[in-house]
Amino acid sequence: MPDTVTLEVQRYRPEEETGPAWQRYEVPFRPEWMVLDALNYIKDHLDGTLSYRWACRMGVCGSCGMLVNGEPVLTCATYLEELPHGSIRVEPLRGFPVIRDLIFDLTDFLNKLKRVSPWLVRKKEQPVADGEYRQTPDQLAEYKQYSMCINCMLCYSACPIYELEPEFIGPAAIALAQRYNHDSRDEGVQARMDVLSQHDGIWACTFVGECSAVCPTNVDPAAAIQRYKLSATLDWVKSTVLPWGKR
Ligand code: SF4
Repeated sequence: MPDTVTLEVQRYRPEEETGPAWQRYEVPFRPEWMVLDALNYIKDHLDGTLSYRWACRMGVCGSCGMLVNGEPVLTCATYLEELPHGSIRVEPLRGFPVIRDLIFDLTDFLNKLKRVSPWLVRKKEQPVADGEYRQTPDQLAEYKQYSMCINCMLCYSACPIYELEPEFIGPAAIALAQRYNHDSRDEGVQARMDVLSQHDGIWACTFVGECSAVCPTNVDPAAAIQRYKLSATLDWVKSTVLPWGKR
């Protein structure tokens, strides 16, 4: 095992510099360290100006996603030991504007997410006195997988369509729409369908599948999108071919 490892980290301060540059740091190699531990070592001991996001250190907050050797990963879940020996390249996730160093701007995603109403939509709330909206374990299982999304943005960074067509609403927003569509308490399916059946919604996806390959919580956004396409097709057939299905 080596005593040290070199991290090549992309640095960029858009308001002061014309473009990104690489900076090399030598950090101790510890088999139990993740890439995030190495970044924290740099921050604490070598260069306090390096900027990046992290919070929970246990794969839950979704804030430490970066490109490591070109792959979108959670840096808190990527062992140094698992990476090829030699230098390790760390960059901000692809496809987002950089705010500073490894920190990117999430505004585009947050605006897109709002469009799919990622909350329980009710036409009429039942009185509080009537108690909770109860669900069976089977009803919970219908959407639980999609509820595991931690908004880490790895899927956007891996998606070639998002890179080519920035208007594409993207994998996580669609998976989160499904999270509410399949919740027995929700009544917002049609409103979300109206948004996602547009060109920048589900139909922009060509089913490359990289979003699901990189997802750290097995949400499987690619499958969520294909399931949505099936629902949209049935919706269209009902509303155009079957006279009683017209809205
Ligand atoms: S779907 Fe997976 S990869 Fe995409 S933001 Fe959610 S957790 Fe991250």
